[in-house]
Amino acid sequence: MSSIAQVEPLTSARALRGPFDYALPEEMRDSVGVGSMLVVPFGRGELLGVVVGLSEASSVAPERLRSPRRAVEADVPVDLVELAAWIALEYCSTPSRALSLVLAPGAGAGVHSLARLVAELTAAGREAPATGVRLTAVQRAVLERLAPGCAPATATGAAHGTLRRLEARGLVRLRRRPLARTPEHVAVGARRAPSLTLNPDQRAALGSVCEAIEHRRFEQLLLHGVTGSGKTEIYLRAAEATLAQGRGVIVLVPEIGLTPQTVGRFVERFGETVAVAHSRLGSGERYDEWMRLRRGEARICVGPRSAVFAPIEDLGLIVVDEEHDSSYKHEGDPRYDARHVAMRRAERAGAVLLCGSATPRPESYARLRRLALPARVDGAELPSVEVLDMCGATHALHERTAEALGELRRAGGKAIVLLNRRGWSNYLSCRSCGKVWGCPACDVALVLHRAEAVISCHHCGHRESVPAACDACASSGVARHGLGTERLEHELGAALGGGDYPIFRLDTDVAGAKGRAAAVLARFERAPAGVLVGTQMIAKGHDFDDVALGVVLDADATLRFPDFRAEERTFALVTQLAGRAGRGGTAGRVLVQTLAPTARSIMAAAHHDSEGFLDGELRRREALGYPPYGELIRIVCSSDREGVALAAARELRSRLTLTDAQLLGPAPLFRLRGRERAQIVIKAADRLAAVAAVGEAVAVPLHRDASISVDVDPQ
Ligand code: ADP
Ligand code: ZN
Ligand code: ZN
Repeated sequence: MSSIAQVEPLTSARALRGPFDYALPEEMRDSVGVGSMLVVPFGRGELLGVVVGLSEASSVAPERLRSPRRAVEADVPVDLVELAAWIALEYCSTPSRALSLVLAPGAGAGVHSLARLVAELTAAGREAPATGVRLTAVQRAVLERLAPGCAPATATGAAHGTLRRLEARGLVRLRRRPLARTPEHVAVGARRAPSLTLNPDQRAALGSVCEAIEHRRFEQLLLHGVTGSGKTEIYLRAAEATLAQGRGVIVLVPEIGLTPQTVGRFVERFGETVAVAHSRLGSGERYDEWMRLRRGEARICVGPRSAVFAPIEDLGLIVVDEEHDSSYKHEGDPRYDARHVAMRRAERAGAVLLCGSATPRPESYARLRRLALPARVDGAELPSVEVLDMCGATHALHERTAEALGELRRAGGKAIVLLNRRGWSNYLSCRSCGKVWGCPACDVALVLHRAEAVISCHHCGHRESVPAACDACASSGVARHGLGTERLEHELGAALGGGDYPIFRLDTDVAGAKGRAAAVLARFERAPAGVLVGTQMIAKGHDFDDVALGVVLDADATLRFPDFRAEERTFALVTQLAGRAGRGGTAGRVLVQTLAPTARSIMAAAHHDSEGFLDGELRRREALGYPPYGELIRIVCSSDREGVALAAARELRSRLTLTDAQLLGPAPLFRLRGRERAQIVIKAADRLAAVAAVGEAVAVPLHRDASISVDVDPQ
């Protein structure tokens, strides 16, 4: 039993680095361990902290050692404390920020009263019912309920006031107590036995997964299967096999609002055993779900990237559905990648990592053991994909697209039209002086949103009303350029809509508040006919039964970003959209409008040639030293003072002494939220060495007015 707890205070300040020693009073020594959450005195106030280590002695003089005030209920499993320490190093962040990822939701913010109040009878209380002490019926009931032993206050069924009055009379003792350190695991089996018979490809894939699960072996598997090939069924059965071993499961999905079907199927099959980490839940509910997992009452957690931190002991399987999805990367500090964290967690737990996608990342294709599901379970052919060259086109829709939509309207069918750009027009310009309306805080053009009558910045959210005239030359000729989903919805409505042919739109403007996206998808699903127009949100994971036509407008837009993932994104977008068309027996058709009809990614997507694309992409990356053949780290310096960002980046570069690595930059980036930015990119062969060197370089302050962000494995 250790007398000193090493506590990492939870604070976002980079400068304050623990852990700090605290002396554990006698009565805390039994219950406090690594992962315990303590309220500790700090300076003149108090802080919440996590115990990261225990020891017998401290280098702090005994008279200067302070003691924790109390422990709180939601302690963290030891392996998650270790995982946080790894994340802090791996992503050049701080232990405190990394720890905040693994806490119970809201714990750091003090949303809950985290200590559990426990009630127990005193000797007087034990005798009270027999000795004729005056008791109300409620008080008598509480004493009876406590007779077998102590119980959480909430389990006595009495109001807090009742307990306090009993305590005042000396009949009950109330104590705050942290939760038991070893949760009880409730064994639960499948609720509804699945009746389908797996096809041979599925059987082979599941066999490999289960073999690894049974041997409790860390293994990384990639389930590479076209949309509708029965991947989810494999996840469900692998989860079942894991539960049967008494181990827990994490299932990561891109965005719950957009993938309600996957979540629904887990809940349907496993019932109460599933805890859903849903961002739509209130903080209290999310906390309760976390506690259900912590206590072992729920053994499967389904959720977005943060579910990789679910407090599940004896983890046996982590599933990453749609593993190519960019939402797995967290954009705040620490900039962790849930897929990489999942790999680490699975390795430490001796669990199986099962990633699935129709369009896996080249990294995963190269590194993971591949299990292929080459055909749809319903036997349907993949849709035919036609690439339409838009060079010299004057209309937004190619004539073949317009024709196909017209036919579909007459036949009363359904179509999805994808345009990865929201708003009405991309930018406005003055017809006489050429002024382009830009954001005052960012170096980008403002986008017109006609329904709201504003032009807005898609980077910082700045909004202003639509100009009636040019403020530079007073001309009233303001031209609108380009096409976004808002205008496309309007144009399709004019051409096809009306009567019983609805046009639905889905993008973040419409989805806005949480839950609205799912509602739009459900309305489109229920409609017998119609068109769904939207950004890439419509190509994410959602399955429709009866979509006959898929259209991608401006398919090469993603290719125009100067980014080594441009090809991969373009291929995934077209392929994922194609996967939404022609399911449930209908033969689908996909039209891809592009200015780059011969681009490798677009041609490969048109031929459903996933392997061909990935092989080519890996060769290209190898030649250029990109992942998985090299490690990338991006460092961005920014400042609201002129010239500082670039100067800080230069200073930082001079501090980086790396062998076996390539340093690119500093290169200026466009101004964002009023801050100038400059970036350095490191391409390194040795990940650990590069991360360590960067961590060291950024630990020392650079410039008073500059801030730095480090992105390991930028997306
Ligand atoms: P994916 O996740 O690859 O898109 P799903 O697992 O969702 O594919 O499967 C698509 C549909 O086919 C689901 O409705 C599923 O229940 C059904 N399905 C899966 N496997 C089989 C099978 N072996 N036989 C019949 N239907 C199946
Ligand atoms: Zn002008
Ligand atoms: Zn802006």
